[in-house]
Amino acid sequence: MVATIIIFIIIGLLVTGILVNPIFIKQRRKRLKSRPFPPLWNAIINNNLPIYLRLSPTEYRRLQGHIQVFLAEKQFISCGGLQVTEEMKLTIAAVACLLLLNERGEYFPKLRSILIYPSTYFVNEIIATGNYVVEERRVARLGESWTNDQVIVSWQQVQKDTHDWHDGHNVILHEFAHQLDQEDGKAEGVPILQQKSDYLIWARVMTEEYQQLCNDVQQGSETVIDNYGATNPSEFFAVATETFFEKPEELLKQHPALYELLQQYYQVDPVQWY
Ligand SMILES: [Zn+2]
Repeated sequence: MVATIIIFIIIGLLVTGILVNPIFIKQRRKRLKSRPFPPLWNAIINNNLPIYLRLSPTEYRRLQGHIQVFLAEKQFISCGGLQVTEEMKLTIAAVACLLLLNERGEYFPKLRSILIYPSTYFVNEIIATGNYVVEERRVARLGESWTNDQVIVSWQQVQKDTHDWHDGHNVILHEFAHQLDQEDGKAEGVPILQQKSDYLIWARVMTEEYQQLCNDVQQGSETVIDNYGATNPSEFFAVATETFFEKPEELLKQHPALYELLQQYYQVDPVQWY
């Protein structure tokens, strides 16, 4: 009896070891990417992502590969009475995977599930209102990225944001940029960069640009980057990502150093897509 249990434990450990082995993961992803991309999926994404057909042929193929991996590895959960459909999964995957075109080979590793609500959802938040005084309030949310393993979005907001692609607001780009930022365990506006020297350039450009946005907001000046980016450096990175993908021409014209930094990081040039 004991021997049987030990054999089962050893088999279990071996199977788990194989499943989390980087070589096995790499091979499985390679297989997923090489699967033919269903024409129906193409039609759905094209209906929901206005820039889909504007991507270069290689970006287009690579995005399809990432979508296949994303759909196989992430779990989609219905919330608030919504029924998750193929259209929802594909739209969210397609937008999120635009952030993976830099081919780092990571697929938002901390993220396990995407929770989808039909529209604005409410959460109870504990807010400190004074010394030793806390209040529980019901707060409306459109999306959020949790450091542990979840992204939560409202489908109504996703639809609005993908159809109004050029307004600079996109809850998926925003929340998945947070996922990139949180990959190293800290949410401070710095994703994992390729080389050590990249961190110095990132810190210099991001600090200058963040400070400029804070000043502009304080003075009430018009800004291409949404005011919400002045909340803190982590929000600045998420909002700058939305602007980079949705208003690339304005960003390039008004903030060339920031555009160049994000272009280097995401390895795409969204100006070419318009
Ligand atoms: Zn945010």
